[in-house]
Amino acid sequence: MAKVLIPTPLRPYVDKKESVEIAGATVGEILESLTRQYGELRRHLYSDEGKLRSFVNVYVNDEDIRYLNKEQTPVKDDDTISIVPSIAGGRPLATAAPPASLSNEEILRYSRHLIMPEVGMEGQLKLKNASVLLVGTGGLGAPLGLYLAAAGVGRIGLVDFDVVDMTNLQRQVIHGTKDVGRKKLDSARERMRDINPHVELVPHEVRLSSENALDILRDYDIVVDGTDNFPTRYLVNDACVLLGKPNVYGSIFRFEGQATVFAYPGGPCYRCLYPEPPPPGLVPSCAEGGVLGILPGLIGVIQATETVKLILGKGEPLVGRLLLYDALAMRFRELKLRRNPDCPVCGDHPTIRELIDYHEFCGIPQQEPPPSPGMSEWEIDPVEVKAKMDRGERFVLIDVREPHEYQICRIPGAKLIPLGELPRRVHELDSADEIVAHCRSGVRSAKAVDFLRQVGFRKVKNMKGGILAWSDKVDPSVPKY
Ligand code: ZN
Repeated sequence: MAKVLIPTPLRPYVDKKESVEIAGATVGEILESLTRQYGELRRHLYSDEGKLRSFVNVYVNDEDIRYLNKEQTPVKDDDTISIVPSIAGGRPLATAAPPASLSNEEILRYSRHLIMPEVGMEGQLKLKNASVLLVGTGGLGAPLGLYLAAAGVGRIGLVDFDVVDMTNLQRQVIHGTKDVGRKKLDSARERMRDINPHVELVPHEVRLSSENALDILRDYDIVVDGTDNFPTRYLVNDACVLLGKPNVYGSIFRFEGQATVFAYPGGPCYRCLYPEPPPPGLVPSCAEGGVLGILPGLIGVIQATETVKLILGKGEPLVGRLLLYDALAMRFRELKLRRNPDCPVCGDHPTIRELIDYHEFCGIPQQEPPPSPGMSEWEIDPVEVKAKMDRGERFVLIDVREPHEYQICRIPGAKLIPLGELPRRVHELDSADEIVAHCRSGVRSAKAVDFLRQVGFRKVKNMKGGILAWSDKVDPSVPKY
């Protein structure tokens, strides 16, 4: 009997065993018998055509049999067979194609890589044979796409379904002013093709979901998480752990960024770091809280660097270390991260063995509740507010945004009371007055109206859609932000 060592991500499919004893004369026979015994394992090791997947590395004892006639490799009784995910212990990536060669044009293009011994021809071919999936072509995806294409990563998949808008251009430098209104996928691919026509670009115009994630991620060596919401982060994490793909992580908020590599063999995953998402609404998104435009450039470039290092198998990967960056202090810090043995997905006894409903997990309803057809009694349309003004009706308009937002634009006559100051400044308001509250989009002012109702105000209304709707419906000279 030979011993087959099972990597952590595949253990859920073999009754959580670390190793299995199997009889057989060749690697092919043993893997065949293993997948007959553990049926679920089969689709992870073999393609639909019955071929051993290209990203599955098999070692007999310490011997990499990738370039040998691997399935016919003879196995002796006390041999140990290791199934190794694409990347392990700095060993080179398993690559889909046999090492290709570079054209003279490519040799010239990559000459600054080729003259470094750490990259050289061998490393450049690894880059050419590698495949990387970028989840998102926004702030983080922009520098990632530009640099990974320039570096010569052979196949780059892009997941996005969004359209370029004007507010993206402050940081998403892969898109230009002429691209506003275009699909991000089209705009990003055009730019990347211009940077390097030797790179194969694979568009995935979908919202990544529990239904499609495994099928999409499966075909790539490395996944880079450039998303901006918690459900997708957990989805990408779990899919990477289940598939045994490293997940190069980056996140940004205002002036701060984080980066690390999750789901690397032996290393922690996103759930080891954050077992549970914050309650919905607690952590504002970049759309709500803002982000320094340069920040995703820096964090995305760190992610790109880690991706290239993983492909080359050089250096010390950012595994088990969380890099924190503070742009205002211009300071990097590093925290140790450990794999949690009780982690529900990458731990020793995982309870998550397939993808779940991540919107539910994060407490976010998948479908927004349908908008109520009319106004509720606590809401008022901006057009009606303007009509009240024009009729000279007496009412108090309060603006619950922040002072720096008030500087961008305001509605004449509005009194500024930021939402956070409302409780202690409520005495400035008279519950006998009719009060209309507004903010940017209507979310914060709805909270203000709730608060005022709780403390006894009865004549309060939320201006629906905020100053954005005011700009659309009443006064287009008011800028939108
Ligand atoms: Zn984990």
